[in-house]
Amino acid sequence: MTTVQEADLTEQVRRAGMRATPGRVAALGFLSSHPHSTAAEVHAGIAAQLPSLSMQSVHNVVNDLTEKGVLRRVDVPGAARYETQTGDNHHHIRCVVCHRIEDVDCVTGEAPCLSPAGSSPMPVLLSADVTFQAVCSQCVDAWQAS
Ligand SMILES: [Zn+2]
Ligand SMILES: [Zn+2]
Repeated sequence: MTTVQEADLTEQVRRAGMRATPGRVAALGFLSSHPHSTAAEVHAGIAAQLPSLSMQSVHNVVNDLTEKGVLRRVDVPGAARYETQTGDNHHHIRCVVCHRIEDVDCVTGEAPCLSPAGSSPMPVLLSADVTFQAVCSQCVDAWQAS
């Protein structure tokens, strides 16, 4: 990681009103190059840089960064994934075989891009989390054969 990028990451954490601890900066750096990683993947990815950082600390770091809007949490079956692309209401498509996740553009371009059929039991609608279940090109042959 170059010094410039590290300065940018530090600035991003500070702008969110948080102290730029080494764990926060490293987790953000890892996720900006490895979107949709789980907390365990972040932990493994920054272990060389910060060998003393525990799994629990990484959980705290990604939770704090998500709460402050620096990260977005993607709730998919299995462990939650995290990414740095927060503002655009994009959706996800997930391969049901290998579980890889890719970004897809929002269905209509802005939140909420879906509304409940019929009348909503709640007056304020914020967003719709859409995850398309799919089979990716690497898995499709094996999947069709099974
Ligand atoms: Zn796949
Ligand atoms: Zn995404």
